[in-house]
Amino acid sequence: MDNKAYALPNPLTPGQVIVIDEELCNGCNTCVDVCRMDVMVPNPEKGKPPVVLYPDECWFCGCCASDCPAGALKIEYPLNQRVGWKRKETGEYFRIGMKNPPPPNTRPPV
Ligand code: SF4
Ligand code: SF4
Repeated sequence: MDNKAYALPNPLTPGQVIVIDEELCNGCNTCVDVCRMDVMVPNPEKGKPPVVLYPDECWFCGCCASDCPAGALKIEYPLNQRVGWKRKETGEYFRIGMKNPPPPNTRPPV
């Protein structure tokens, strides 16, 4: 059969969701195995970093980054998940999803 089928990556969303350091990656494909959304596929070339085939399917669970044995994979969280704010009086910095967040806003409703 002469016809070949190709899988092409989805067009990248404005943020590149997965960044793999090619120097550190050993091509173990752990990230491919743990991703429940099948965002990546193994590289056809053994030992090379996986191919991020469906970046817009990523739901930023973080499993791939936390299970990567080489620390080669970084997640670029969307801008709206990186929002931070600062308390003027104390200079404290807060962000969405932080550990031990401050108590909720206690101002009386307007
Ligand atoms: S963050 Fe989660 S969904 Fe996104 S590529 Fe990694 S394992 Fe898959
Ligand atoms: S888990 Fe890490 S070292 Fe293994 S293929 Fe993925 S990015 Fe590369």
